[in-house]
Amino acid sequence: MGIFCKIAAMLGFGSTDKNEQESSPAEPEGKAAQSEQQSQQKTETVKPMVSSIKKYVLIGAGPASVRAAETLRKADAKCIITMIGLEKEAPYSRMALPYYLSGMIEDTGTHLRKTDNHFESLNIVHIRAKVEKVEPKQQQVTLENGDVFEYDKLMIATGSRPANSPFPGADNDGVVNCWTLEDGRKIIDSIKPGSKVALLGAGFVASIIIEPLIKRGADLTVMMGRTGQMVSRMMDETAGGMIKTWCESKGVTTILPSSIKSIEAGPALKRDDDSLTEFDLIIVATGVYSNIEFLEGTGIKTDAGVLVNAALRTNVRHIYAAGDVAQGVDFSTGSKVVHAIQPTAVDHGRIAAVNMMGGNSTYKGSLSMNVLDTAGLISTSFGSWGGVDGGETATLVDMDNFKYVRLNFKGDKLVGAITVGRTDYIGVMRGLIQSEVPLGEWKEKLIEDPTLLMNAYLAQSLDVARAS
Ligand SMILES: Cc1cc2nc3c(=O)[nH]c(=O)nc-3n(C[C@H](O)[C@H](O)[C@H](O)COP(=O)(O)OP(=O)(O)OC[C@H]3O[C@@H](n4cnc5c(N)ncnc54)[C@H](O)[C@@H]3O)c2cc1C
Repeated sequence: MGIFCKIAAMLGFGSTDKNEQESSPAEPEGKAAQSEQQSQQKTETVKPMVSSIKKYVLIGAGPASVRAAETLRKADAKCIITMIGLEKEAPYSRMALPYYLSGMIEDTGTHLRKTDNHFESLNIVHIRAKVEKVEPKQQQVTLENGDVFEYDKLMIATGSRPANSPFPGADNDGVVNCWTLEDGRKIIDSIKPGSKVALLGAGFVASIIIEPLIKRGADLTVMMGRTGQMVSRMMDETAGGMIKTWCESKGVTTILPSSIKSIEAGPALKRDDDSLTEFDLIIVATGVYSNIEFLEGTGIKTDAGVLVNAALRTNVRHIYAAGDVAQGVDFSTGSKVVHAIQPTAVDHGRIAAVNMMGGNSTYKGSLSMNVLDTAGLISTSFGSWGGVDGGETATLVDMDNFKYVRLNFKGDKLVGAITVGRTDYIGVMRGLIQSEVPLGEWKEKLIEDPTLLMNAYLAQSLDVARAS
């Protein structure tokens, strides 16, 4: 089992039971949408409202739509399920792209379902086309080629796309993103041992593709984020600094965005002193935007993404949103955020499907959860990783050996954590944060010695089990 699989298993990717509450029978959709009320009942039963054959349209063919389609089919053998994705591929996981780039898997290894006729066998129609228009009054969507699909319920799961390069010239040959399988193919075709590669960006995607790029033999230059840090949106300065130093120790050159003026033909980077540095490939990974533009004029409320309530409903009747495109409840803060991670997309897809069928499933919120393998250094952050107002923080830092633990408390509960260089606490940290277990006297012990995390977890879990 590879490190990624181990971490995924520890995190319970795809398993979400702690995170949600489901009940049936159905609550009227409009009422639930208005009140955002959360049922406390817990049952997995779904009773589809099948007075006639229902038509479900899912826009997008990523993890959120795939899980939604399968959930619909499991509960209703007769309904019509149409999943529309603009890429020409079989539904695949972007999360697997680093493994494809590193040569660990073929492109087919990224596919979300491995059997060739998986979707046909479930009678899930997969259309490869772009949706251009949604018309809520007519309950229909229109494709780029003019084809129209009517729906009883619609789910928007169009994910996001790479942000534009912060520098002019990104349309030059030899400049790519790393977002789609097609991008992955271009990167693989372009890099030979010794190729000079510039990676613009030091966020999540950039940091996890450094390892495969090095593996392919790239001579790598990485541009830091605006803060001069790596992964500043998911790690504190100590962790970001450690990851940067680690990359430099692996032969990666780091540069600051302020040192770049533009991307020129070649491709080349024009530096602040007007000198040109040529590369074989420039990869732009400077953030993402949600794919929401095609919803303009529909009345569907958007912000950074499509705004949804705890049931994944939008403000427009019969329309739901899920995955990276959805801006839903954050577990830690209760505010609405886009959590662009696959476990959230899968949870969203399933819960939206249950509700589209008339169930009453609510999502307690998505826990911010990041696991990075940057050139072989594993780092993680969970929940309120930067700490909370009035809270307390315990840290253990070993700069020389690239090891770091940070625990953030609110009262006697663990609300956020960061680790670098150790994977042994991942499941425990997630468990303690999500279960909101009071740590009692263990909090002080953890502030003294954060390595007692497992002992605290076992002791408190036993107390909870005894009390129940
Ligand atoms: C390189 C990389 C590594 C990643 N690693 C991790 C990781 O380790 N862990 C993790 O949790 N997450 C990771 N992610 C993020 C994860 O891939 C996403 O959270 C996940 O793919 C979201 O699923 P989704 O179904 O919401 O959206 P997507 O997978 O983005 O799917 C969106 C779908 O919508 C389609 N689409 C868009 N617009 C239209 C339109 N107008 N009409 C029709 N179809 C449309 C797209 O073609 C696609 O099929 C990674 C992402 C990348 C790029």
